[in-house]
Amino acid sequence: MRNEAGAIVKWFSVSIDIEDRKSTEEEIRSTQTKLAQMGHVLTMGQLTASIAHEVNQPLSGIITNANTCLHMLAANPPNVEGARETARRTIRDGHRASEVVKRVRALFGKENAALEPVDLNEATREVIALSRVRFQETHAVLRTELAEELPLVNGDRVQLQQVVLNLIQNASDAMISVRDRPRRMVITTERDGNECVRLTVQDAGVGFERESLQRLFDAFYTTKSEGVGIGLSISRSIIERHGGRMWAALNEGPGAAFSFSVPIVAKDATCAGAAVPS
Ligand code: ADP
Repeated sequence: MRNEAGAIVKWFSVSIDIEDRKSTEEEIRSTQTKLAQMGHVLTMGQLTASIAHEVNQPLSGIITNANTCLHMLAANPPNVEGARETARRTIRDGHRASEVVKRVRALFGKENAALEPVDLNEATREVIALSRVRFQETHAVLRTELAEELPLVNGDRVQLQQVVLNLIQNASDAMISVRDRPRRMVITTERDGNECVRLTVQDAGVGFERESLQRLFDAFYTTKSEGVGIGLSISRSIIERHGGRMWAALNEGPGAAFSFSVPIVAKDATCAGAAVPS
């Protein structure tokens, strides 16, 4: 355990590309304070926890009503009028749940996005600094491969950081039960064609069923007992509003990789044609 903790500390001092160690630490501290003060970079976890209650209520309503509906239809004779009424209530609750998601999505809407030139490497380093405790708790060893001379992207810095934070948290969640191999996470940035920059968070976690690939980004799809299942759905909305795209892939070995591409600062740059591995 000490070795792993040591590796994390070492990794931090190496990965953050500032010569003076002291100023690195100061920088991390001040970034953490700044972001915390801004209160902007709520983790998806915090965000979801705060709306989980609101979503859970209509969801339990849906389950209860659907069950009642089945009972009424199974009765002899079937209680068709009662079943119709409970079906109506199920629909009402479904609408309520989707309203919550709509409101959350609106939070990250274009009108709320402040597009500016963003250095994705720097933004990512800040998120990594914020996730330091998380890496220590989960004994994850992180490696960064951040491309040099990466073009600036056109983005809302805080929103992009929220996406990266969510990917890092999901990657650590996916590795928490891993005992037979190192919990390695690799964060890569690179150019993706002429007009885009790609970021990938790769983990050595449990991965996912190939069949669920399309559902990972659906709202409320979760395999975690405490999960709400909207982190990836919000993340994808954010990236698509940036004119980018987001996807997941299974590693050749254990684990998965989640990537997004966003346009660089250039007239009419788009990632619509960027390659998405199947
Ligand atoms: P939550 O984290 O609340 O479940 P997300 O939308 O962020 O919500 O993720 C949805 C689901 O996608 C997760 O429950 C998990 O099944 C899957 N998933 C996300 N990231 C990973 C990952 N790195 N490895 C394996 N599965 C993942």
